[in-house]
Amino acid sequence: MHLHTPQVHVPGYWLANLDGVYRYLHDHVKKGVAHDIGVSSCSRPLRALEYPQREAATRLLIIGGTHGHEPGTVAGVMNLVSLLERGEDLSGEKAAALLELLRKVHLFVLPVLNPDGRAVCPDSFVGMAVDTCAVYASGLTKDGAILPYDADSDEPCYFLDPKDALFVGGQFNGAGIAINRRRTLDPVDAVEVDSLLRFAMDKDLDAVLDLHACGYNFSFQVRSHEAPYWPVMRNWQKRAETLFAERGSPLHPLHGDGNPPTPPPFFFNSSVFHQRAKLMWIAFEGRQGYLGNPSFMPQPDHRTIIDDYLTAMRVFVELGVEGQYARANAETFRTR
Ligand SMILES: [Zn+2]
Repeated sequence: MHLHTPQVHVPGYWLANLDGVYRYLHDHVKKGVAHDIGVSSCSRPLRALEYPQREAATRLLIIGGTHGHEPGTVAGVMNLVSLLERGEDLSGEKAAALLELLRKVHLFVLPVLNPDGRAVCPDSFVGMAVDTCAVYASGLTKDGAILPYDADSDEPCYFLDPKDALFVGGQFNGAGIAINRRRTLDPVDAVEVDSLLRFAMDKDLDAVLDLHACGYNFSFQVRSHEAPYWPVMRNWQKRAETLFAERGSPLHPLHGDGNPPTPPPFFFNSSVFHQRAKLMWIAFEGRQGYLGNPSFMPQPDHRTIIDDYLTAMRVFVELGVEGQYARANAETFRTR
């Protein structure tokens, strides 16, 4: 069965449409070095970009589109790519402070980790209802029932067999495998995550920023990270609070912070990459701009959502330039 994905009108700078992203990566990337790191479960290309800085000691990776129903994450990364390519984002804004920081790091970006999920979801959820987004996040059973979105569950859905579903949502890849959850650290079932892990393993990365969107702005203390990472994440929060307040955007408290934080009973990509590639992982949840829950109000517009992501990236890069991730990695793994 073919399901038609509704095309919604979005501003030109909101580059989240998969075909548009592929076109941009093919036609407009001149400074970035393209790496085709693999293909999705439905054979869509996974294209990463590298912006080398020979003198830079800091090496970072920024990921968008882990979840297909979170289009702002892709649009956020594509605005970053535009900034790196032409010195201004897709709407012509300069973002001078971020650009200055970017000149000091060796950066990798992957705009869409899960293109299969992105391909079946609308380009924006701004102004739509939470329930609409939940359908695209999770999927529909053959009798048309909405699969519960289980982001907070201790026993989440790891696999939704496409044969049993009317629609497989954006938290899965095209083969129905949850892109960001698994029972064990090994093996990595989602081919997209496995491809990225193989790519990342020999890149000597200090940290990864993984962009998400659940409704409102907050960052995660990755609960499987060891004690040396906790103060780094609290530094991220302190600096971000100042920048978000200056812009009048809300930033919620650091999620999962604790002494020690309690790890979840399953594994996210954060644990896999942290353990295998010996790096720090930061997850930031931006805004979807959808309606239906008072805590998601006031509703942001597309521009504000992009600026929220660029602000999160700015703090991420700044801590990297200061060597904060490298020090925590060295203290934890004692090998670098
Ligand atoms: Zn997500």
